Amino acid sequence: MKIKVVGAAGGEVTGSAYLVETANAKVMIDAGMFQGGKATEEKNKLPEGADPHSLDALLLTHAHLDHTGRVPLLLRHGYRNAIYATSATLDLAEIVLKDSAKIQAQDAVRKNRYYPEKHIEALYTPEDMVSFRSLGKNIELHQSYQIADGITARFYEAGHMLGSTSIELTIQEKGSSKVIVFSGDLGPYEQPIVRSFEQLPCADLVFLESTYGNRNHRPYSETIEQFEQIIQKAVEQQGKILIPAFAIGRTQQILYHLAILFFQKKISPFPVFVDSPMAIEAGKIFAHHPDLFDEEATDWKNQGVIPLDRTWFKFITSVEESKQLNDLKGPCAILAGAGMCNGGRIQYHLKFNLPHPTTQVLMVGYQGYGSLGRQLVDGAKHVKIHGQTIDVHATTHTLNGLSAHAGQNDLLKWFTSMGMTKPKVVLTHGENPQREALASEIEKNYNLKPLLPQLNEVVEI
Ligand SMILES: [Zn+2]
Repeated sequence: MKIKVVGAAGGEVTGSAYLVETANAKVMIDAGMFQGGKATEEKNKLPEGADPHSLDALLLTHAHLDHTGRVPLLLRHGYRNAIYATSATLDLAEIVLKDSAKIQAQDAVRKNRYYPEKHIEALYTPEDMVSFRSLGKNIELHQSYQIADGITARFYEAGHMLGSTSIELTIQEKGSSKVIVFSGDLGPYEQPIVRSFEQLPCADLVFLESTYGNRNHRPYSETIEQFEQIIQKAVEQQGKILIPAFAIGRTQQILYHLAILFFQKKISPFPVFVDSPMAIEAGKIFAHHPDLFDEEATDWKNQGVIPLDRTWFKFITSVEESKQLNDLKGPCAILAGAGMCNGGRIQYHLKFNLPHPTTQVLMVGYQGYGSLGRQLVDGAKHVKIHGQTIDVHATTHTLNGLSAHAGQNDLLKWFTSMGMTKPKVVLTHGENPQREALASEIEKNYNLKPLLPQLNEVVEI
């Protein structure tokens, strides 16, 4: 059997996808979108050898766009077999992909306005998502599913986001049986709300992510302490707290910690506005899946600590309501996307509030080089938003340590049991220094030499 690495290889962290081919079947694990500059995004094509009509099954580890963003492309080109994933992943992927389809369609319209002679076709459009839900097959963790001739699949908790999984395939071919494991994205063991990742027992071949293969995160409790201090200071200033946050995962995490701080009376409650239709949708999906919460989150929920409580948590859907937030006095907090401030409603709030010295901007995620968020972190005195120069008198704080990816020790912890069974190891989803560092740890601890594949490299077993 052959496994072709058709994304998140060669030192890249986006575009996750694998094509598994046996004598009798062909299945795909994830179909992620390449994200980044133009050269990266040009790789958003059907993977070579993955003719959608020839695929027997598609399995998704989790809903993030860099693992699902090419699913509508498969649908556009005729894929009509089952899409296996947890029900939370299917729910979240539906919002992520519908949003992505809208953006792709708008992009094509804009490009055709500039270059009408080129007749640029959208990568995919919202119409391509019509069959998504009917093809979705909800899986239960730990159960075995026959997904194609000679291939069964089992899903395990990956602790990275709501519904995230690692996938184990058992493949029968020419009288022999092999176990292949795909880690998916793994969360830090201490990540709140969702349960921690599970260790899988054994494997012949393992594909392991390596996003933070070279370092460990600081203890989560330190991050939360710092969060509390920043919020406390911001409240003393009586200003607005602007929190640029990704709609799925990070927003719910921040709301969760604010709800706990309010409940514990560590901070007197203030209004918190979630100004992001996508985050509001995602929040509802979180509320529908309390079965996926870890013990601590279940405990808080049972005590009545829910960040959906309308007394303090307010959900903004219309642009009109969003504009009205300009007139509010602090303390209050506004959460809006995009996470790096390079688009979305947060830009309007920044434009209006950055000139005020009482405004506190709280960065809770990675700010990419060149993004508006990075300029604020670097202490810019003026920034450009929507073509206007805006004076910055606000204070910007950076909260590190809220990563949704496992650090080196946790990656090794996940691998422990399987490592004993001496599998072939392939490191993907990491920049080269990160995956090289993880490779040398695995070599040192298990005497195994991991492969670091390039894009479209084929691993045989
Ligand atoms: Zn992810």
